[in-house]
Amino acid sequence: METELIRIGQGEECLAWEEEALRRAGEIIKGGGLVAFPTETVYGLGGDALNGESSRKIYAAKGRPSDNPLIVHISRLEDMGRIVERIPGEAVKLAESFWPGPLTMILPKSREVPYETTGGLDTVAVRMPSHPVARRLIAYSGGYVAAPSANASGRPSPTIAAHVIEDMSGRIDMIVDGGEVGIGLESTIVDLTVSPPQILRPGYITEELLKGVLGQVETDRAILQTDSGQAPRAPGMKYRHYAPRGELAIVEGGREQVTAWINRQVQADHAAGWKTGIITTREQQGLYRADVVKCVGSRQDEEGIARNLYLVLREFDQEKVDRIYSEGFGDGKLGSAIMNRLLKAAGHRIVSVQYPIKSEI
Ligand code: AMP
Ligand code: MG
Repeated sequence: METELIRIGQGEECLAWEEEALRRAGEIIKGGGLVAFPTETVYGLGGDALNGESSRKIYAAKGRPSDNPLIVHISRLEDMGRIVERIPGEAVKLAESFWPGPLTMILPKSREVPYETTGGLDTVAVRMPSHPVARRLIAYSGGYVAAPSANASGRPSPTIAAHVIEDMSGRIDMIVDGGEVGIGLESTIVDLTVSPPQILRPGYITEELLKGVLGQVETDRAILQTDSGQAPRAPGMKYRHYAPRGELAIVEGGREQVTAWINRQVQADHAAGWKTGIITTREQQGLYRADVVKCVGSRQDEEGIARNLYLVLREFDQEKVDRIYSEGFGDGKLGSAIMNRLLKAAGHRIVSVQYPIKSEI
């Protein structure tokens, strides 16, 4: 299949030809086709959420296991009623506070949503994105767009159109290039079918912000701890994900111990013939010796780190790096979202280098 590429400006105002192109993209989705498009979190791969055949095509294009449900994207609050069984007061409060924006809510699904879209579940994930291109496209598509991240399953989510082209060219009908996304990590997912509500995936809307609106909120422990022994409640969180092709390990501990440990390990890897890479921050960038040293930004700027993380993970693939070591993150407000994605990319390989050294890989 030939994939058409169109470029759209990022402003609230759309030029006439851009509007026309988005209208055509909407027609493709209405007709059962697939279109990748920018959102404020990452690029999405969109199909008609109310058409089971479209959802099947999404799974096929991504190579995604079909028990991993899709998020349904809407552009107007009043459209939510058609796809959920009921709208609890908590959902209204969250929508008022965080929509349009990077928050996904899990609610009981209505009959209109096919099981192909929900991976066989009786619940549905709903989000109203804020990106102007996404909102226009959803409206032109009939109002309900199932859109997982537009990467091949298992690879880091795309934050620029070039990543979508890399993974999806020839597999989908159209790619809408709207430039670099703003946030760079997928939406926060909160399950409103349980009491208290539970965060199934951390993101830009933090537990603290949600507590500010709902009072009590819990986080699914299985997504942050390596040793909880439980399966995560968002089916997608159990898969290794966001992963570069090289083997990634996260190294935690005091700054000096971390740099010393990584430099020693890199020497050993070189002796064994491996190409090595490091994910570091501006503050520590100069301290490493490896084949490829990538800075994700300053520790003072977590938003910058979130925006760069997937880009950097993909760059290691281009440079064909075999062994990658990353510093740990986790102090600030976005820390748990960043660390959650990094842990999944690393297949939960963590090295702790507090004195005395607890574990070696
Ligand atoms: P992605 O579309 O790549 O951002 O991934 C969507 C995430 O939402 C996956 O981890 C899914 O498992 C999760 N998800 C979608 N729908 C549901 C649902 N009904 N219940 C729980 N998790 C869901
Ligand atoms: Mg994804």
